Amino acid sequence: MAYIELKHEFKKYQMGDTEIVANNDISFQINEGSLTVILGPSGAGKSTVLNILGGMDSPTSGEILVDGTDIAQFNNKQLTKYRRDDVGFVFQFYNLIPNLSTLENIELATSIVKNGLDPAQVLREVGLSNRLDNFPSQLSGGEQQRVAIARALAKNPKLLLCDEPTGALDYTTGKQILSLLSDASKTFHKTVIIITHNSEIAKMADRVIHINDAKVRSVTDNPSPIPIA
Ligand code: ADP
Ligand code: ADP
Repeated sequence: MAYIELKHEFKKYQMGDTEIVANNDISFQINEGSLTVILGPSGAGKSTVLNILGGMDSPTSGEILVDGTDIAQFNNKQLTKYRRDDVGFVFQFYNLIPNLSTLENIELATSIVKNGLDPAQVLREVGLSNRLDNFPSQLSGGEQQRVAIARALAKNPKLLLCDEPTGALDYTTGKQILSLLSDASKTFHKTVIIITHNSEIAKMADRVIHINDAKVRSVTDNPSPIPIA
């Protein structure tokens, strides 16, 4: 069953006399527990889609069905609750809080949700049991991204939205991070969406949604996604 369905989603910006159409009639479906890559060059409209899916921005028109509910109709209070409880975010530059330890970064996230997981346990699951008391600046880029993924998973959301999660990492470290995100979908049944301009990453996805120039150009299912070794 589709966990996410966009129906004729448009996002337009007015810049003086010019109208910028960032998303032009976007429609697609994403299955629960799957890993989807939204692929496209810079400026294609990927971040706009991700921001709308994450409840950080509203579409100009169209339906954004998440588990059957149209979040495009949500008011600000409902959107805040949705962002907090239903979505985990992973960013290119980690966005950890520098003066909190690894453990405290996770505890801050779980302290505001009802169904949060045990922070230390989640950090163990991402391979950071020996890093609980370190600060972000004491960790490598890959380790910081693991903390960020742990923070997202610890809220126990169904949906994980990832914005170029390997964009700041070297190839080998990037593969480890992708493997972790793949585990999140396969083992923990999270619906994982990654936006990227890197077509290599698309090979590991169950579904690849190609966006260019504000439109969906193709939707391709991988019958056997290539695992990241
Ligand atoms: P991508 O993530 O694929 O690089 P974006 O979704 O960030 O693409 O941007 C798509 C288009 O929308 C670009 O032309 C961008 O300049 C434009 N855009 C994005 N956000 C805004 C904004 N707040 N105001 C005006 N134009 C915007
Ligand atoms: P990268 O390959 O990502 O550049 P680094 O060279 O920054 O990695 O770090 C290599 C290892 O050293 C990592 O495991 C990191 O956690 C550890 N490390 C780096 N800086 C510090 C520090 N100030 N305190 C403790 N450990 C550190």
